[in-house]
Amino acid sequence: MQKFSGFQIIAKTLGGNKGWKAQWRDAAPRASYDAIIIGGGGHGLAAAYYLASEHGISNVAVLEKGWIGGGNTGRNTTIIRSNYLFEESAALYNHALNLWEGLSQELNYNVMYSPRGVMMLAHNIHDVQVFRRHVHANRLAGVDNEWLTAQQCKDYCPPLNIDAATMRYPVLGGSLQRRGGTARHDAVAWGYARAASARGVDIVQNCEVKAILRGADGAVTGVETTRGTIHSSRIGVSAAGNSSVVLDMAGVSMPLESFPLQALVSEPVKPDFPCVVMSNTIHAYISQSDKGEMVIGAGTDSYTSYTQRGGLHIATHTLDAICELFPQYRRLRMLRNWGGIVDVTPDRSPIIAKTPVRGLYVNCGWGTGGFKATPGAGNLLAYTMARDTPHPINAPFTIERFRDGTLIDEAAAAAVAH
Ligand SMILES: Cc1cc2nc3c(=O)[nH]c(=O)nc-3n(C[C@H](O)[C@H](O)[C@H](O)COP(=O)(O)OP(=O)(O)OC[C@H]3O[C@@H](n4cnc5c(N)ncnc54)[C@H](O)[C@@H]3O)c2cc1C
Repeated sequence: MQKFSGFQIIAKTLGGNKGWKAQWRDAAPRASYDAIIIGGGGHGLAAAYYLASEHGISNVAVLEKGWIGGGNTGRNTTIIRSNYLFEESAALYNHALNLWEGLSQELNYNVMYSPRGVMMLAHNIHDVQVFRRHVHANRLAGVDNEWLTAQQCKDYCPPLNIDAATMRYPVLGGSLQRRGGTARHDAVAWGYARAASARGVDIVQNCEVKAILRGADGAVTGVETTRGTIHSSRIGVSAAGNSSVVLDMAGVSMPLESFPLQALVSEPVKPDFPCVVMSNTIHAYISQSDKGEMVIGAGTDSYTSYTQRGGLHIATHTLDAICELFPQYRRLRMLRNWGGIVDVTPDRSPIIAKTPVRGLYVNCGWGTGGFKATPGAGNLLAYTMARDTPHPINAPFTIERFRDGTLIDEAAAAAVAH
């Protein structure tokens, strides 16, 4: 693997940036593997990396129907935080946050993790009460989160409007997780692909899984793809918005609905916005990319769909909210918008688990908020696949919780779950 260092980057720059090698092998599929991952997003690539690096299973293929990172991984607004309400969730997202902090060093690839702080605004008395309870619950669970007054919110994020006389939904305060922030989404996919490939994992692009094959005893034996049949007795599905479609190929019915979710960016401006701001109540969230674009996220459409685009009224509603919170951005022009397909569970918590089919594992249901979990989700899926048993952190995130009623109900706590 080509190693990166400051010296090497300077030398290559002086040499006209010639001679960079491909960062990972674009492999052709082989007849069989010890493990297959369906879906070359950040989660699937991370799972392959951890299978190789932590469990010694490197005869692995990641099968991606398009290009790696071309799904939600390359379409999201990159908000990272771990201050979820329930202990199960806090442990899961904190596991991911801990991995984010050392990820660039571990992968020797700059994923541009930037802990600039994620601030969530409270706009009414109910918000204030819920957020304060949330802060206390997080602290008890060892997760950093703090309450700020409206003036402290403004001090942390100077562009924020807190003039109650000009706002329909005044800012009454907010919660702040300082360890939260952003990372560069495609670098995460590329970094994991590169590190996994260097350990022997085959990254197979343009390879759509069309069927999951099962033996007489019901266990998985392989997959049928657009590039031929590939055998394996261990298959992990990490297909985000297409999870229920893929699981259906093995006869597993998933408690998931898929919705379009949109984001948009403005024309680039000088560095102005120091953190990430989210407002669940008026439904908007915003940060500034390193290129200078204001990155703005909208909500899901209210109907299920597999299109990677959403309704215009959803995006305009979000922009109305942004303009109220940050009036100086009213004259910014929007550069582009896009959508992804997010897979949503009834309790808005993910599933990382064994399925009823032997040898088939699933990581899905991350809905609107799985980018932040990428290292943790991949790490735990790898553990579950390697040992055929869940790690204590993902043990509660089963499919069966929807049958047994042991829900992890983050829905009310995070109406916008980014
Ligand atoms: C607009 C938007 C904004 C978001 N903002 C945030 C945010 O700020 N913070 C946050 O934490 N999360 C956010 N999310 C959610 C986050 O993007 C996802 O939860 C996360 O990226 C999921 O990663 P993944 O690797 O599981 O999925 P993906 O990156 O979607 O990867 C799944 C892959 O599976 C492939 N696939 C599907 N079917 C098949 C098949 N049959 N054969 C082979 N390959 C297949 C797809 O092509 C895709 O590449 C956002 C999502 C969107 C759409």
